[in-house]
Amino acid sequence: MTLKKINRRDFFRLGLGASFGLIASRGWPRELNFNSKSFFASFFSEKHKLIYRVLGKTGLKVTAVSMGVMNADNPDLVRAALDAGIILLDTAHSYQRGRNEEMIGSVIKGRPRESFIISTKINPPTRDRKTGDFLSETNPQQFLDMLNISLERLGLDYVDILSLHNTTKAEHVLNEPILEALQKAKKEGKTRFIGASTHSGQPEVIKGMLEAKVYDVVIAGFNFRQQNREEVRQALREAAAAGLGVIAMKTQAGVYWDKEKTEKINMKAALKWVLNEPAVHTAIPGFTTFEQLEEDLSVMADLTLTEEELRDLRLGEIHGDGMYCQSCLSCLSACPENLPVPELMRAYMYAFGYNNFDLAQDLLTSLDLPSPLCRTCISCQVKCRLNLGVKERIVELASLVPGLKVAQS
Ligand code: SF4
Ligand code: SF4
Repeated sequence: MTLKKINRRDFFRLGLGASFGLIASRGWPRELNFNSKSFFASFFSEKHKLIYRVLGKTGLKVTAVSMGVMNADNPDLVRAALDAGIILLDTAHSYQRGRNEEMIGSVIKGRPRESFIISTKINPPTRDRKTGDFLSETNPQQFLDMLNISLERLGLDYVDILSLHNTTKAEHVLNEPILEALQKAKKEGKTRFIGASTHSGQPEVIKGMLEAKVYDVVIAGFNFRQQNREEVRQALREAAAAGLGVIAMKTQAGVYWDKEKTEKINMKAALKWVLNEPAVHTAIPGFTTFEQLEEDLSVMADLTLTEEELRDLRLGEIHGDGMYCQSCLSCLSACPENLPVPELMRAYMYAFGYNNFDLAQDLLTSLDLPSPLCRTCISCQVKCRLNLGVKERIVELASLVPGLKVAQS
């Protein structure tokens, strides 16, 4: 039996699946030196149907499943994703403190420029740590300097999509120095298109983007745990109707139902749920193993959600399981210490859902939290819409930041 003739069942029957799992967990053995036509690449591309969609008015052709590179640190995984047909890679200036863009740069080096689409995001440091509002010293040049660093790391003259990172209000995407920087970058050919990313406040952010009339793409948090947030779905539809390319992020809702990682979310079902929304042009799940890559790609064979998958997503249930805070902001006024609860819950997901402790620590540090936290309350005043145990999660988060304490109640 030649490798070319091996089918999926043979793959696992012959025990190659185990080797595959080993590679996935430990990284690709460099001495094997697989090239772009490697066995695994041909396994992926021959077995999976790809769905292509057009990213709104950008006209960019993308696969319905793209790659969010945020948590990945194995260049061979990114290589395999591109070899398997994925076109769009999403990263950010801040991911892995710059190493993420450098890693992508090493992967795309030598590939035809038109064969991939790079989306990166920049979050200028001149923002209020709690509100994310831009401070008066925000200036276009600072943003453009950060873009130049990103381009250097990526080894590119231009990116395809440049976004303002982490916006939560209309005023963020309407900020004049930022608009000037984004438009200048586009005019100078350093990016083909401009956008903004938003984890929370999606409806307001999208309203602001449409008002600004200069944006091409929105990267928005969207997943099945937002089933009770029709306003987010409506906002995505308005964005798509106005011609914006719509990229869905946080599609796997934190990957696990529990912190101990004994119960994984049905990843295929979660991805299908997102891709069944017609307004979404592409999703950027943050897979980190070859197995997950294969699983995510397989979704494009058939987007129909089976009854079992619908059951797995526990639609209709509102319970405190899961890593994902839907950033609905409805709890903000309840906290007497005015703590940034959604950001804290996002840090919890990064740490205990994604195992990305660096990212969790970076986010926590950026919040400039008082210590000790939660001095005021005998019992937590936050009643989460998803029944997340906010105080318990804050206690666990505090152990990640040296010197950060939580008052005992
Ligand atoms: S216990 Fe809850 S309500 Fe009180 S300060 Fe902490 S997070 Fe806020
Ligand atoms: S903690 Fe709960 S209520 Fe608060 S923003 Fe997140 S999902 Fe909404």
